Amino acid sequence: MQRIITRNAAAVQGNWQKQLAQAVSNPAQLLMQLGLEPEHFQKDIQARKLFPMRVPQAFIDRMQTGDANDPLLRQVLPAAHEFIEQAGFTSDPLGEHQSAVPGLLHKYRSRVLLILKGGCAVNCRYCFRRHFPYQDNQPGQDWSEAIAYIAARPEIDEVILSGGDPLMANDRHLAKLFAQLATLPQLQRVRIHTRLPVVIPARVTEELVDLLGSFAKPVVMVTHINHPNEIDEAFSQAMFKLKQAGVQLLNQGVLLRDVNDNADTLCALSNRLFEVGILPYYLFMLDRVAGASHFEVAQEQAIALIKQLYRRLPGYLVPRLSREEAGKSSKTPIDLQM
Ligand code: SF4
Repeated sequence: MQRIITRNAAAVQGNWQKQLAQAVSNPAQLLMQLGLEPEHFQKDIQARKLFPMRVPQAFIDRMQTGDANDPLLRQVLPAAHEFIEQAGFTSDPLGEHQSAVPGLLHKYRSRVLLILKGGCAVNCRYCFRRHFPYQDNQPGQDWSEAIAYIAARPEIDEVILSGGDPLMANDRHLAKLFAQLATLPQLQRVRIHTRLPVVIPARVTEELVDLLGSFAKPVVMVTHINHPNEIDEAFSQAMFKLKQAGVQLLNQGVLLRDVNDNADTLCALSNRLFEVGILPYYLFMLDRVAGASHFEVAQEQAIALIKQLYRRLPGYLVPRLSREEAGKSSKTPIDLQM
């Protein structure tokens, strides 16, 4: 039987930074919490050397006790498969490791990515940036070089805050950055790509809601959710506050083998997202990053799944199946007629 725990009062009010500091990094501890025997996972646990494990308690609380195949656990637990070297899977699948100026990536003509923080609240095993050299791309607290770069290029009208997870920056830091962004006359909108409110809903503080809601230009938040079980009551309430403040909410997910690669789960995800005020935006094919080949879903299967979604859902709840390719000027939509 599915066990989905809604947040308790303590977690709701808890300080998000404290929850972050107390994130579980020991796979054996995580397994024991879920009633699983760590000795059965010895080879898997060794994969933490390739990419550390990190998962906040509020996310663990949504996993099912005793289920080694829980779709949320699978996204965060190191796996022996990560040692498999698969042809075509590289450390830099999107050709991102060279940045224009420290902390800034200029991949698309009208948009730039600002890398605010090198870390995330959760380490997703399939992450395309699991080998990203964050230490060489830290802008620190001073945005002047990045802001000057944007100011000199009027064609850049959207700034995307990324990471790691940009909401790892505290509210004071974010307020300083937004004050600098406000000086850019060409700016049409700011977009925030984040998974932090999903794994720690308490990250949506009153200060953050006020900051985003009062910015002079529209703010879009793109959450990263792959499975309906990731959406609990605490997250729902956090999204409600952002929505009330005028933040546009979208979701992008990744199609992951044995996590969400079936039509029932994807339909449930779209419906659940809509219930909490978020529109499904993208469903990405896996980026072919070294260590994540066991998550890959074949393109033919992905297309068949999307076709099923079109039969079962209104069009606005079907995410765009796409992939990101190094050097391309935009995401590449997958042709559903293939
Ligand atoms: S939250 Fe996003 S950037 Fe961070 S580890 Fe997960 S997939 Fe990667």
